[in-house]
Amino acid sequence: MNTQPAQSIAANFQPLWTQTMRPGLLNNLVDLITRASGRERTNFAVRAPAVDEPIVEVPACTQEDVILALNRARKAQQEWAESPVRERKQIVLRLHDLILQRQETMLDLLQMETGKARRDALEEVLDVAQACRHYAFRAESYLQPKWRKGALPLLTRTWELRHPIGVVGFISPWNYPLTLTLSDAIPAMLAGNAVVVKPDSQAPLAALLGLQWLREAGLPGDVLQVVTGPGADLAKPLIAGVDYICFTGSTTTGRSIARQAGENLIGCSLELGGKNPMLVLHDADIDRAVHGALRGCFANAGQLCISCERLFLQDPVYDRFLHQFIKRTSNLKIGPEKNFDVGMGSLISRGQLDKVDAHVRDAVRKGAVILAGGRARPDLGPFFYEPTILARVTQEMRVWQEETFGPVVSVCPFGDIEEALRMANDSPFGLNASIWTRDVRQGQRLAVRMRCGTVNINGAYAAAWGSVDAPMGGMKASGIGRRHGVEGFARFTESQTIAQQNLIPVGPWPFVKAGFYARVMTAALRLLRHIPGLR
Ligand code: NAD
Repeated sequence: MNTQPAQSIAANFQPLWTQTMRPGLLNNLVDLITRASGRERTNFAVRAPAVDEPIVEVPACTQEDVILALNRARKAQQEWAESPVRERKQIVLRLHDLILQRQETMLDLLQMETGKARRDALEEVLDVAQACRHYAFRAESYLQPKWRKGALPLLTRTWELRHPIGVVGFISPWNYPLTLTLSDAIPAMLAGNAVVVKPDSQAPLAALLGLQWLREAGLPGDVLQVVTGPGADLAKPLIAGVDYICFTGSTTTGRSIARQAGENLIGCSLELGGKNPMLVLHDADIDRAVHGALRGCFANAGQLCISCERLFLQDPVYDRFLHQFIKRTSNLKIGPEKNFDVGMGSLISRGQLDKVDAHVRDAVRKGAVILAGGRARPDLGPFFYEPTILARVTQEMRVWQEETFGPVVSVCPFGDIEEALRMANDSPFGLNASIWTRDVRQGQRLAVRMRCGTVNINGAYAAAWGSVDAPMGGMKASGIGRRHGVEGFARFTESQTIAQQNLIPVGPWPFVKAGFYARVMTAALRLLRHIPGLR
């Protein structure tokens, strides 16, 4: 394992969160949190996981604060919805430019509050820019009324409208705190909605900096509100007051959000956990596949919903792949530094570290073998854990059954492709999958048979995630609904159908007998089946 002495790492890391932040920036961010005035409240500390030291105190918002945010959002929404879409588009494009221009500040902040490696923080910045560009240039056409086929050809004129749904709530996790707030909120706002965001308490600052830049880009004050504090307390009034709830987080919390959305009869999208398989076939390009597996398994220290936790290797390449994979995993540079050479950063918290270690210990106790890693690295920082490869993993082990959400992957050999497909699909989750083969047609045939919302051929996750034009989300216990693409926009709108009937009504005609009407309609439908363009 490539490491540096602890002291030089600490010295390197110190400027990350003391000197590089503009003076006052953090306090300015805290001032953006929506709070009802004059109330006693408690604060909580946001900590830098890489050193487990407090960065800044943030208010634990109350239920009254959430209601205030909702009221403000609702007031602002009407005017926002009436503003021309091209004005909204310009605001989002200005955010796009700001986020690319000022990426260093955002990367520092993301590294500081999550402990992630800089290359992982960069993925967030690039993702938000992609989402801004994609939706800014498409919002107008998505919102344009669309002609639809009428009930009676030529006699019915029908069109479909898309209205903003109103106020949309977002509850987001800590692992990609910028992406999983802004990249979803952008289409919601472009559609004419106001937004209330509740970020995770461990990492609320990136969303706040995003809000600050959105305001600089021209977003009217109350269109996006942020409230901070415990999800269990704030979710209830939030869900009770919004018209749609967009949740990203664990499957357990997702079920509770779905129940509350059901009670309130509002729509929801749930982006939940995964236990994602990667299949390396006998004809795969091994160099590329190993490189892909390193990113696929250890990006964001494995705290990535679409990361790979189960790696299936076909017998002929098992040894060759594993030899390279172990070597490169053991050489992966881990640490808290602010440069792009670091391959992996810290885990978010003691709780996450304990969970990862518990999965590894449980597996070893039941007979698994550690091929690389398998231990914490307190010499680098309190929550660092080595990238870990396990073999001889069996179904009784937690690491096989549950989402670890850490830098741990289980390798499993297979002979027959049908066997690999069966094992890969044998999971309550169905989020993301990856297939490596030189025979891309074979890859495509297998992809269709994977019960996962996204499948990457000769890629780990970025190809599918980065295809913002295509839907992204989970099957089975990995979620409901989709982000990205038209679906990721349409979920924030309410459709309305307007149909105008000319000359004769749909239904029995007043000037003829009902029996005649029945015969004419039956004949007309028989005919329509055969007329291209009117079918
Ligand atoms: P979590 O469910 O504990 O927390 C997510 C959010 O929900 C946080 O803002 C939290 O404050 C809030 N929350 C917690 N308990 C709540 C409750 N009882 N009621 C309402 N809100 C509550 O999730 P986590 O463990 O912090 O995040 C990791 C999980 O998120 C993993 O399972 C990961 O796979 C999943 N995830 C999924 C995606 C995706 O796109 N599918 C993306 C990122 C993370």
